[in-house]
Amino acid sequence: MAYMIKAEDCTGCGSCEFECPNRAVRMKGDIYVINPDKCTECVGKFDAPQCVAACPNDAVVHA
Ligand code: SF4
Ligand code: SF4
Repeated sequence: MAYMIKAEDCTGCGSCEFECPNRAVRMKGDIYVINPDKCTECVGKFDAPQCVAACPNDAVVHA
């Protein structure tokens, strides 16, 4: 399982990229995307998904 970024709600602020412990978030063109192969939902590292917590626009949702 993984999280995903809704492109229509992402402003490209980059907050989520810096918070991800797995470097699963990267810029693709002018939006950010989450690599589902790298996203562990932060299990074992944090109590909550750090990208969700970091996003000011509620753009990160469960895939
Ligand atoms: S849920 Fe955690 S591991 Fe997955 S993309 Fe967000 S910050 Fe990275
Ligand atoms: S924190 Fe939210 S708005 Fe900012 S780049 Fe990530 S998904 Fe987009």
